[in-house]
Amino acid sequence: MNLKIAVCIKPVPDPNFYDQITIHPVKKTITRQGIPTIINPVDKNALEAALQLREQVGGTVTVLTMAPPNGEESLRELLAMGADDACLLTDRAFAGADTLATSYTLAQGLKKLGNFDLVFTGTESADGATSQVPSQLAQWLGVAHLWNVSELQLQEQALRAKMKIENGYIEYAVKLPALIAVTRDLNTPRFTSIMGVMKAKKKPLTVYTVNDLDVEMDKLGLKGSPTQPGGIFAPSLGRKGERLTGDIDEIIDQLLIKLRAAGLNVEAADACQERR
Ligand SMILES: Cc1cc2nc3c(=O)[nH]c(=O)nc-3n(C[C@H](O)[C@H](O)[C@H](O)COP(=O)(O)OP(=O)(O)OC[C@H]3O[C@@H](n4cnc5c(N)ncnc54)[C@H](O)[C@@H]3O)c2cc1C
Repeated sequence: MNLKIAVCIKPVPDPNFYDQITIHPVKKTITRQGIPTIINPVDKNALEAALQLREQVGGTVTVLTMAPPNGEESLRELLAMGADDACLLTDRAFAGADTLATSYTLAQGLKKLGNFDLVFTGTESADGATSQVPSQLAQWLGVAHLWNVSELQLQEQALRAKMKIENGYIEYAVKLPALIAVTRDLNTPRFTSIMGVMKAKKKPLTVYTVNDLDVEMDKLGLKGSPTQPGGIFAPSLGRKGERLTGDIDEIIDQLLIKLRAAGLNVEAADACQERR
């Protein structure tokens, strides 16, 4: 059958360095310089799904990312895991992209690489975590799209997939071409062998800049991003303290009034009453 499969992967900040991430005071964007990255964990499940299908019916698996130049390291890691080739989309013109500009750039990169039967993504990233890129990307590509997929089988020309919803699952059959956004329940990503690491060094990795793609410049990067962060705030973890005064009965009365006003602790209130 020979499927042509692409897997979109995102390098995200290493959680061990979260305390060193800062927010730009004016642009409100994440400042990532100097923060080591890891591959967004669920994107490895996406690659594992692609590799299993390639083993089942044949074909090729291409990994793609839009990232700064060091995105190449993540791609090499996934070539070592078993992908056949890789593509890095990197250019200052792509910087500051929101999800729409990101998905547009990825779509133009995929179109440049050829017509894919299947595109895999993770369901959400560990940092931006909007879950918007998969559906937007499918829209740009004009293909069917399933999200939150936790089971997958290829039967002839159709994929049978289980999509996780709040209280269970929905089963779908999707004709190719399609984009599938996977969850971590779908599979267990394979380990990377030493042999895989050696082979990865020789596998093709293409770098595309803005000049290589057929793009409308006003759809790229910060300029092409209709959404801008308005502000980012850390939750206040402080507690409000209040001293109740009077004798013990007065304090209990005040406490009961406050608890009832808050709509809480009827049983505790009863217990206090008993104590009185
Ligand atoms: C308003 C706004 C402004 C932003 N501004 C900036 C900014 O200035 N600088 C900045 O660095 N980030 C910025 N971001 C974050 C950036 O837009 C997102 O990281 C990016 O668009 C992907 O969105 P996400 O992380 O929510 O992905 P999700 O939709 O949660 O990701 C789902 C899946 O899509 C795929 N995917 C996502 N991103 C990529 C990618 N780049 N390459 C390949 N596959 C991918 C992966 O398979 C991933 O598992 C901004 C986000 C918003 C909402």
